[in-house]
Amino acid sequence: MSQPKPSPPPFNVHDVRKDFPVLQELVYGKPLVYLDNAATSQKPQRVIDSLRDYYSHYNANIHRGVHYLSQKASGLYDDVRVMVKDFINAPSEREIVFTSGTTDSINLVASSFGRKFIGQGDEILISAMEHHANIVPWQLLCEEKGAVLKVIPMDDRGVLMMDELDELLTDRTKLVSVVHTSNSLGTINPVQTIITKAHQRNIPVLVDGAQAVAHGRVDVQAMDCDFFVFSGHKMFGPTGVGCLYAKEQWLEAMPPYRGGGDMIRSVSFEKTTYNDIPFKFEAGTPHIAGVIGMGEAISYMNSMDLLGAHAHEMNLLQEATQALSQLDHVRIIGQAEQKTSLVSFVIDGVNAMDAGMYLDTMGIAVRTGHHCTEPVMHRFNIPGTIRASFMFYNTIEEAHQFTEGVKKAITLLR
Ligand code: PMP
Repeated sequence: MSQPKPSPPPFNVHDVRKDFPVLQELVYGKPLVYLDNAATSQKPQRVIDSLRDYYSHYNANIHRGVHYLSQKASGLYDDVRVMVKDFINAPSEREIVFTSGTTDSINLVASSFGRKFIGQGDEILISAMEHHANIVPWQLLCEEKGAVLKVIPMDDRGVLMMDELDELLTDRTKLVSVVHTSNSLGTINPVQTIITKAHQRNIPVLVDGAQAVAHGRVDVQAMDCDFFVFSGHKMFGPTGVGCLYAKEQWLEAMPPYRGGGDMIRSVSFEKTTYNDIPFKFEAGTPHIAGVIGMGEAISYMNSMDLLGAHAHEMNLLQEATQALSQLDHVRIIGQAEQKTSLVSFVIDGVNAMDAGMYLDTMGIAVRTGHHCTEPVMHRFNIPGTIRASFMFYNTIEEAHQFTEGVKKAITLLR
């Protein structure tokens, strides 16, 4: 009989912080307050150890070696595909393609799906709050094919205007590609509704999950999206590695994205045949250590009380939002009801970068600028924002330090 899984210990921020060595660092002699988690998350010790172990003990190329090290590395690499499948509740590991990250995954779909299924006059629908990674690949495709990029607009709170969706989905729409959670506003989009409406017209949907995966359970079957993309580094794994989930029917129908080793079945000068999915889309030596590290990050998340972690993140968001709302001259950009744990704002009369640099002198790391979402900045008629993005390892004290820091910045810089 199988043993029931032990339930994880209840979430405790002080225990969790011990898992992340960088959180003990001093910056200019002050304890680091890391609030740039939407750019990249910090890494637990076990992820760092998994990279060191791979390079120290079993570094070898995968899938082509009969020797011990290659077999071991191949086994661990392949295991991660199953872990990712379970992590996002995909039906099969054949539907998990390893990529270098969200950007790479979207480019893969734009190039491959686009080459086969997009033609002159066809339409691709995105939203007004996309990251550049979910805009530019489609623009490149549209330019090449003579297709048209359309945009779901948003209101002043940073909420998509869903009543426009029915009009925007037309007989020419071939793909909808939307961000699950906005990295510059924090808005969590109603992807479920978008998918249902698109599917009523047989239009496939890609969901950019870059900001979603570290903050709650993802279930691609419940969502019923056709494509789901994310990066390892935003969910406690290494940089340079990520995933594309795609329904088997699409991966089978799509042509290879890149040619090279591992993606072929046989090669001759006359004719080359391709490997099965997902390998058809994985040409060349992959980021083996990165994939193994991403697997370790998934194990880490699986060992946590994620509901408790999420509740803590919502407290951090509420604390920071409340404190900032009380400050004169501060305007929060992104006031959706459904938000992830990030707050973007401007201080009237203070340059965002100056405020960021001032906070940095206190050891507080925030991000300033357009956050790779220039159209969002145009929509709100601002050059950029200051963004504090929280992860479950941040404390309420840190949230206070940050809002006190903003208060001082206003006094000093205005
Ligand atoms: N989409 C969103 C919503 C993001 O936040 C990011 C990273 N900031 C990306 C796409 C691109 O991710 P990556 O740089 O890891 O490819």
